[in-house]
Amino acid sequence: MKKLILALGGWLALTGLACTPHATEKNPAILSSPDKQIVLQFYLSEEGVPYYSVDVAGSPFILPSRLGLLAQEADFSAGFTLSGIQRSKHKEIWHQPWGENKTVLDEHREMKVKLRSGAGDAVNVCFRLFDDGLGFRYDIQSQQDTLTITEELTEFCLAEDALSWSLPGDFNSYEHLYREMPLSAVRNANTPFTFRRPDGLHASIHEAALYDFPEMVLENTSGTAFKAVLAPYKQRERTVRAIVPGSFHTAWRTVQIARDAVGLVNSSLILNLNEPSRIDDTSWIKPMKYIGVWWSLHLGIENWGGKEHGATTERALQYIDFAAANNIQGVLFEGWNSAWDGSNAVPDFDFTQAAPDFDVERVAAYAREKGVEYITHNETGGNFVRFEDQLERSLDWARELGIHGLKTGYAGGGLYGGYPRHGQVGVRHFQHVVEEAAKRHIMVDGHEVIKATGIRRTWPNFMTRECARGMEYNGWSNGNPPSHHEVLPYTRLLGGPMDYTPGVFDVLYRNIADKPQVRTWGRPGNTCRVNTTLVKQMANWVVLYSPMQMACDLLENYEGHPAFQFFRDFDADCDESHALQGEVGAYISVVRRAGERFFYGATTSEEGRVLSEPLSFLEKGVRYKAVIYADAPDADWKTNPYAYEIREQEVSSKDTLSVVLAPGGGQAISFFPLP
Ligand code: CA
Repeated sequence: MKKLILALGGWLALTGLACTPHATEKNPAILSSPDKQIVLQFYLSEEGVPYYSVDVAGSPFILPSRLGLLAQEADFSAGFTLSGIQRSKHKEIWHQPWGENKTVLDEHREMKVKLRSGAGDAVNVCFRLFDDGLGFRYDIQSQQDTLTITEELTEFCLAEDALSWSLPGDFNSYEHLYREMPLSAVRNANTPFTFRRPDGLHASIHEAALYDFPEMVLENTSGTAFKAVLAPYKQRERTVRAIVPGSFHTAWRTVQIARDAVGLVNSSLILNLNEPSRIDDTSWIKPMKYIGVWWSLHLGIENWGGKEHGATTERALQYIDFAAANNIQGVLFEGWNSAWDGSNAVPDFDFTQAAPDFDVERVAAYAREKGVEYITHNETGGNFVRFEDQLERSLDWARELGIHGLKTGYAGGGLYGGYPRHGQVGVRHFQHVVEEAAKRHIMVDGHEVIKATGIRRTWPNFMTRECARGMEYNGWSNGNPPSHHEVLPYTRLLGGPMDYTPGVFDVLYRNIADKPQVRTWGRPGNTCRVNTTLVKQMANWVVLYSPMQMACDLLENYEGHPAFQFFRDFDADCDESHALQGEVGAYISVVRRAGERFFYGATTSEEGRVLSEPLSFLEKGVRYKAVIYADAPDADWKTNPYAYEIREQEVSSKDTLSVVLAPGGGQAISFFPLP
């Protein structure tokens, strides 16, 4: 009898008959993923408090968890009645101008739960279930002109403990090392917050389509139960989180779910929860490889300004020549403008004013002549107000110089004026830059900006961003441990591309041993290094996806180096990607197809290992020349990081390669079809 009522309830809701729908604890509203493996239940408690729960493959995954928001002007937490449930099915194949995969399937089931508060405000909770996870968001239509959001009540009460990987819930920086610990030991975490249950189920909590709202982090409320916490409006603000119009919707709260670790990497859920492109003509948006004056500044052998200035006209022309000769599409010169000297003070930036020894017009003209894209760099030191004041003028100026790339930086703690970097004001600013850049056909690479939530689908000129500990930390700190690179693909990169700036060949800084340190901050002396083998740096060009992919080392370390042929051949504009095998924090292998060629990368943590890799991803019936860049048999990130081998082999999709990875090592392979 109970089953009959359930089925009838679903049918009534579906057909929208004029009767009062129910969603009670005993008789919840139910939504299943297309493959029926993920089942969500929604109900209102007797007090009218909304709850949801999720089962995966018949067992509890998220226990009943609260939904709701609080505002100063209105209460969206309890006293709700259900005014309707709307269900729909969706299946669509869509395309993007660039991405891990240019063709994406979006297949989901939707359930829009329409709630009415005691005060008469409407709150719709829209749930979408995919085979690879779920998303839900709040759509509020209140009677207020403005709402002052003070708290989000969303909970993720996870059914059982699991091993997790996360960054701390810091509203000003993502540049921390990942923590591997049980869910129950995590006090707070930023997202993507990834975990693996004892039964092998992998999941990651994050958000999608974050606009004009603060970021969400998670706070442990007890055991394995987590609650959303929004970044405050101002740094020391205790109450206000966001100021929004009376009608608005939040970002999607998302949970990616997969049977194995690489399933998370292969998921397109975050992109599927973003809107189609708002840029009609995307022909000017092109992935690229790039080099530039940057690493020398972090190594401390040159500076952003002053007498050891790195970005001089002469050096810039040299980089442009090298790019043109090596199939590299872009160049970047940090410290090109006056005022920025690498300190975190708030200097008098002008984003059109070059340093005295940098002839920007000549450099830009030379880049145009050589067919190389010049990426301009605007370091703001966190002074986003000064940047906004100059934004339109400086972007107009860049466009006139034929510049189609902009890297931004917000070094330091929070944003000028006492705003947290990941708060609503920051989110709004970063988006404003992207939209103004789009108007002028400029692509953006954001450093120290808000985390990636899939906005690249809607604004495909927002190519890449940093938002994690990148290469720079190896220049002036104890650096990133080897396993950092096997955590990033399963955490940070689930949100979107990362400008990690891989590719240091001189991992022990041998070639600069006799150069004096000119920097006044960071760790003095030559005690730092890159904690990988040379080949792992190459594999990271494939593994750590970025449509603007940098070879970050000094030119001198690439000139004449046989292994640099891989980057020369590599194509940052891939069509299709597959994460093949891996475990979070341990290893990963990825293949990307670009036209008829394939590029493969595999990396491992401190532990060496051998992967058996079937080449079934290759086109059937085609013979390929595989150029294999491998760690030498005696290579080791700690003791022998430079040792590598290059081998050539003819292969087909029927072959299986044995991929030997040294401790802290990797392997990179180019596959070229044979005629
Ligand atoms: Ca940074």
